[in-house]
Amino acid sequence: MNVTFLGTGTSGGVPSIGCNCDVCKSTNPKDKRLRCSVLIETDRTRILLDCGPDFRQQMLKQPFRKIDAVLLTHIHYDHVAGIDDLRPFCKFGDIPIFANEETAFGLKRAFPYCFEDKEKLYPGVPNINLNIISAHNPFRIGDIDIMPIQVIHGNMHILGFRFNSFAYITDMKSIDESEYSYLCGVKVLVVNALRFTKEHHSHQLVDDAINFSRKVGAKKTYLIHSCHHIGLHDDVNKILPHGFEMAYDGQKIVI
Ligand SMILES: [Zn+2]
Ligand SMILES: [Zn+2]
Ligand SMILES: [Zn+2]
Repeated sequence: MNVTFLGTGTSGGVPSIGCNCDVCKSTNPKDKRLRCSVLIETDRTRILLDCGPDFRQQMLKQPFRKIDAVLLTHIHYDHVAGIDDLRPFCKFGDIPIFANEETAFGLKRAFPYCFEDKEKLYPGVPNINLNIISAHNPFRIGDIDIMPIQVIHGNMHILGFRFNSFAYITDMKSIDESEYSYLCGVKVLVVNALRFTKEHHSHQLVDDAINFSRKVGAKKTYLIHSCHHIGLHDDVNKILPHGFEMAYDGQKIVI
């Protein structure tokens, strides 16, 4: 299975508009972070995990082929607002979207024109259909098995996803003790880490991500959803403990 990081930045992306800090002024491409999303691919199957406002720009760099499913973690703009840009991919057929009840409800409010009855659909809208999923109820897309995990993001319960020995969790602040049994055996973990200091009400910091990963027992952990305050990509990687690194946009890993 191949994983491509399409974006690794926090909700406003990096650089941050109007900021002149070293990270925002950096010329290292690894310090440019679009909004979080990944492609998960096998020879037969291609899954998009989250579809943020940078989706169009992200997919222009990828081969143009069918997307078999879109998995959504939650309804926040930085994770769903590229939905309309799925249009070109509907050339290959309708695209199923998998989301929990709350996200599905929000999608219908945010993009009502995409969810009209078939006969009423305006020509040219993305042909997407909604499938409601919930934590701990596994399903399969093509040759990829998926287990949704529940994590806490401020006052929301949102989804993370496990694919055999790989797990992807974003926008987590905390997680119930009972979820760890669903993460047992995860070797490669992608998890959010906003910055090093200054607690945030809905996002964990680097130390929280390290503690979480150690409790899961992951061998390798990639940090995502970071803001400019985290520091320069190369500097941060030098000080992270063994087995941890910051992901960067365009990075590919093989699971
Ligand atoms: Zn987010
Ligand atoms: Zn900055
Ligand atoms: Zn969020």
